[in-house]
Amino acid sequence: MHSLFISDLHLAAERPQITAQFQAFTTDIAPQAAALYVLGDLFEYWAGDDDNDALGMQTAAALASLAARGTRVFLMQGNRDVLMAGAFAARCGATLLDDPLLADLHGTPTLLTHGDALCTGDADYQRFRAYARDPGNQARFLAQPLAARREQMLGMRAQSEASKQQKSETIMDVTPAAVDELLRRHGYPRLIHGHTHRPARHIHQLDGHDCERWVLNDWYQRGGYLRVDAEGCAAILL
Ligand code: MN
Repeated sequence: MHSLFISDLHLAAERPQITAQFQAFTTDIAPQAAALYVLGDLFEYWAGDDDNDALGMQTAAALASLAARGTRVFLMQGNRDVLMAGAFAARCGATLLDDPLLADLHGTPTLLTHGDALCTGDADYQRFRAYARDPGNQARFLAQPLAARREQMLGMRAQSEASKQQKSETIMDVTPAAVDELLRRHGYPRLIHGHTHRPARHIHQLDGHDCERWVLNDWYQRGGYLRVDAEGCAAILL
């Protein structure tokens, strides 16, 4: 029995080859797994669950048929798709997860998170994150017509790309102290996250514990996933 983890697909109409790779993944690879976890940023942006554009519908259909074949599907919001909510999860036959979530994964306590909350060196981003996750702000945003929301999302996306150019590599990575604090708070579990687009296996030596931290790959150039079973984790590129 095994589970699969993916994140940061950033599915977008402009990158049809990644959408195709994801669709093939859901029919050829994921059905053998007991569970598929999508740890955020499935979409490049998400204007609300009432957005019924073709990409969202195709993606939901692919996940729903995977779920119908017996693989449990779990979705976590990322920073790009923080508005992905229960209605979309239901369309996918999926369960929406809290961030962070401590899970027993084939016998090993494992903390799952998108990862952006760990980038505490980027104060501007953390301010924006708090704003974007505020229920009142979300309700006000969602009250606008879909076309206006889409337009604002595209504007924010352009702004975020521009501001990333000016930030140092260190600021855009996780802050080691934030990782330590999270691991300590949850009893020194294994940690799996995405967001930074720096796939790796790290070991955090902390208070006499060796905590494994797996960072998932993004899907900008090619897809990939983390396979987890009772023996451990393996990162596999498509
Ligand atoms: Mn992200």
